Amino acid sequence: MRITDVAITLFAWEAGPHTLLPGAGEHPRSGDLGLIEIRTDEGVTGLSFLGALDHPASTDAPGVARWLKPLLVGADPLARERLFKAMWAQVRHVGIRSVGAVDVALWDLAGKAAGLPIHQLLGTAREAVPVYVSSQRFAEPEAYAAQAAEVFAASWAGYKVHPPKFSVAGDIAVARAVRDAVGDRTLFFDGGWAYTAFTAYQIGLALQELGYFWYEDPLGPDDVAGYVRLAKQLTIPLIATEQPGGSLASYQPWLLQHATHALRGDVPTRGGITGMVKGARLAEAFGLNYELHYSGTALGDAANVQVAMAIGNGEFLETPLPDPIHRYATDFDWHIDAAGRTPAPTKPGLGVEVDRELIARKRI
Ligand SMILES: [Mg+2]
Repeated sequence: MRITDVAITLFAWEAGPHTLLPGAGEHPRSGDLGLIEIRTDEGVTGLSFLGALDHPASTDAPGVARWLKPLLVGADPLARERLFKAMWAQVRHVGIRSVGAVDVALWDLAGKAAGLPIHQLLGTAREAVPVYVSSQRFAEPEAYAAQAAEVFAASWAGYKVHPPKFSVAGDIAVARAVRDAVGDRTLFFDGGWAYTAFTAYQIGLALQELGYFWYEDPLGPDDVAGYVRLAKQLTIPLIATEQPGGSLASYQPWLLQHATHALRGDVPTRGGITGMVKGARLAEAFGLNYELHYSGTALGDAANVQVAMAIGNGEFLETPLPDPIHRYATDFDWHIDAAGRTPAPTKPGLGVEVDRELIARKRI
C-alpha cells in the first residue's frame, strides 16, 4: 500500500458564546479546523483534524503541505515509526501539533486497513476508562460548586477545578466550596502555572487537607527544581508536563529528579498517538501513570480514547464540559456508563465518522 495524496480541507469552527474551555476569554471563540485525509492506492483513507480553537488550522496547513506531504506521498502508510521519525526531523519547520495530526490520520488509516480499532492494533489493556470533566474559569466559588454538582449528577467520574487565580484565599475558597458541594468525590485542581513557590505551597496544603486527588501545574511549566522542592513539602501528588510539548527526551529531567507523580501528554504536544504511547511506556518504566490531556478536537479526543484503552498506566481521560461544540463535525460521543467510564471503541480506526455535509458547508 502506498500513499497517493494528502489533502487538507479548512472549515470554520464557531464555538459560540462560550468556548467551555478553562480560560474562556483567554481562548478565541471561533477559528478553523482542517480535515486531513491521507489517501492510498488501495482506497483506504485515514482522517484526522488539524488545529484547535487556540491554534487555527489555517496557521499550520501550509507547513503540512510544504514540509510533511512530500515525506508522505509515495510512502508505505503502515511504516508509522519511520514516518514519525522523518516528520519529527521537520519540527524546526512545522509544529509538533502538525506531526501529531498526521500521525493520528496514519493510525486511523492502519486501523481501517486492518478492520480493527486502534487500541487493538496497539494491544488492548482494558475495556473502559473513567472520564472527568474540566471546569471553566469562574469568578465565584458558588459557580464551581454548582457546576461540580451537575457533573456528578450526570455520572462523570471526576471534576477538575481551574481556579480564578485571583488570590490564595480566593482559590482555596473555590477548592473548599467544591468539596463541600460534592462530598467524597474525585476532585482535581489545576493551577495553570500561576503560582510562586510560596503560594503554590499554601494552596497545596489546603488541597491535601481537602483530599484532592492531584495538584496539577502549580508552578511554571519548566520549573523542574520548583516541583522537586514542592514534592518534598507536600503529600498530595503533583502532576506536570502537560506543557511545554516536546520529544520523548523532554521528560528526562522530570523522571530523573522525581519532579512529578505522573507524565502528561496529548495529540498536539507529543506528536499524536505514536508520541503519546512512547511517553506512556517511558512512564511505566518509572512506575508512573501517563495521564492524557484533552487533545483539542473530537478526533483528538477519539485518539485519546484509543490510547487510554491500550495503556495500563493512566487512570483517567479528560474532557472539557461535555458540550456538543467539542464533538464538532463528528459523531464522537463519550457514551459514559453509571461509573463515568467510556467504553473501548469497536469500529475500525478511530471509530468516528466525520460530518462531510457540515464540512462542505463550512469550507473555507
Ligand atoms: Mg491542565
